Amino acid sequence: MSKAVPLAAAPAAGASLFAHSRLLDSVAAFTHHRDIDALDHSLALSLAELSSAQSVSLVKRAVGGTHVDSIVQCALDEQGHYQLRAIEPHAAEPALERVNRCMEQLEVHTEMIHGMHRLTVPMLRDGRAIGALELDSCMPPATSRPLVDGFARIYSNYTGLLQESERDKLTGLYNRRSLERQLQRLLQQHESTQPPVAEPEPSRPGPSSAGAPQVWLAILDIDHFKHINDTYGHIYGDEVILLLAQQMRACFRRSDVLFRFGGEEFVILFAATDEATVHAVLERFRQRVAEYAFPQVGLVTVSIGYAHVGVHDYPASVLDRADKALYFAKNNGRNSTYGYESLRASGAVGQTMAPGAIDLF
Ligand code: GH3
Ligand code: MG
Ligand code: MG
Repeated sequence: MSKAVPLAAAPAAGASLFAHSRLLDSVAAFTHHRDIDALDHSLALSLAELSSAQSVSLVKRAVGGTHVDSIVQCALDEQGHYQLRAIEPHAAEPALERVNRCMEQLEVHTEMIHGMHRLTVPMLRDGRAIGALELDSCMPPATSRPLVDGFARIYSNYTGLLQESERDKLTGLYNRRSLERQLQRLLQQHESTQPPVAEPEPSRPGPSSAGAPQVWLAILDIDHFKHINDTYGHIYGDEVILLLAQQMRACFRRSDVLFRFGGEEFVILFAATDEATVHAVLERFRQRVAEYAFPQVGLVTVSIGYAHVGVHDYPASVLDRADKALYFAKNNGRNSTYGYESLRASGAVGQTMAPGAIDLF
């Protein structure tokens, strides 16, 4: 039997349905993104619009770490339009004290700032804070909190799923599947700084490119790893992989993108202005590993091959070039670093495959 709905309730129900659909629409919009940076921007804007806040900040800790890694803020400008901007964590020091406290104590903080209510809510995953959402608004915290709480939970669930699909379980570094996407992202980031030169051969850095950072890919493989497994067992082998990943995190810059590419093979994507810098950075890491005393196992060395990434390069062809340089290192004493372009110029390695000839993905 159908139930009669009082006529007076209809407009209120309509308004609430409209509010619900607006909310669902914005959740669908920000969870549409696979790229975390785009997702962060979209979430900050959605939350600001829905709550009519003065500003919304999304503060994030580094994956697996406790220091603040990125801040995205969406704030009203003088014309009353929302503007998004990324803030360098070191430029936000005093404000970060409060957010850090909230993340450490896993507690919501509220206070009045210049006549505005400030609400800081930690975003939790597995019992720890992965970041925080901070909202400055005319509305009292009790009114805006359910919405901010909901966004914090959706964000942490969704980014958890994204991370699981793109990260290696043992080391937390990116996995092989994410290489193509990360390579495209880095190339797009540096496209504007690349000189508009024709590229007769994708592997060769442009001659007029002095000063402009270009993208490079390095493959790193542990030397005689089978011997480590055979002598000490797989558990110690895994421990070496884990410690090596930690060394990579400590040695490379935050903007460098680190992958566990296979068993004991790693890939590094990074930007640098010239081959000499690339070589020096990778050599520094190789030496650092060679000097590190791995518990029980002792001495472990790595071989490294690298290649320049052209704007129109296929991931498979860059990998092939870096792999040729790595192969050269393996055949010439291991525990060393070689660049494909230099080897090619000296005739030590031959022609690489045609772009797109094999598909590694
Ligand atoms: P090379 O110096 O030529 O690189 O010699 P290698 O012994 O390191 O040879 P290779 O790189 O081909 O061997 C990789 C070995 O790593 C084979 C496999 O048994 C082992 N391995 C692969 N994945 C894992 C892993 O997840 N954990 C452990 N413990 N071992 C792995
Ligand atoms: Mg290997
Ligand atoms: Mg090896």
